[in-house]
Amino acid sequence: MGERSTYARPRQNLILQHVELETANEFILKHHRHHGAIPWHRFSIGAEMHGNLVGVAVVGRPLSGQHQDRWVEVTRMASDGTPNVCSFLYGAAARAAFALGFARIQTYILASETGASLKASGWKFSHITKPPSAWHGRRPNPAHLRGSKQLWFQGEETAEDWNVSDWGDATRARLNRKRRTHERRRNQTRPPPRQCMNCGDRFFAARIDAKTCSPRCRKALQRKRELSRRWLR
Ligand SMILES: [Zn+2]
Repeated sequence: MGERSTYARPRQNLILQHVELETANEFILKHHRHHGAIPWHRFSIGAEMHGNLVGVAVVGRPLSGQHQDRWVEVTRMASDGTPNVCSFLYGAAARAAFALGFARIQTYILASETGASLKASGWKFSHITKPPSAWHGRRPNPAHLRGSKQLWFQGEETAEDWNVSDWGDATRARLNRKRRTHERRRNQTRPPPRQCMNCGDRFFAARIDAKTCSPRCRKALQRKRELSRRWLR
């Protein structure tokens, strides 16, 4: 850990600190819920409380898209659970990025997250990204890479940014909910196929009580049953 920053502003005992990527990665491996270490950054910052590192933010180039030289992205954010650490670091990361002359800072979070700490530190919600395909090459993507993401930013706006700051929290929550439902349905595993009682083919049932593969087979089965009933009589 480096020396304390001259610009450190104490906020609820949180002190801003410059950290090396190595220190940040160590912290991330210990505390991040789903991401591992990252091999590069532009800069990393940490929050210190009572002499302990309680959170880190790694700021690097945007992982996709243009503006690689003018924009930065918070590629990792981790805290040990101490309150307000994330909003403290998001705020500091944005100030640092603009001080360095970057036009925009952005970050992707999971659709299931609330974005409360981003909102608290003055970030704006951009939009929800389309989920990437569940498979990459021959392996399924790990769960945290599968879903859609929320993009949040400060600074330069683009056509992609829905201006939903006016729409309010309710709308954003509704959009998130809609996307999550869509994903859940998409990721649902299909129940196993059944065997048609008429033709013996395997089929995927649309209804719980389906016994035949098609309306035609259903009618044929009814006819057969009718006939056997007559014969038995
Ligand atoms: Zn059938």
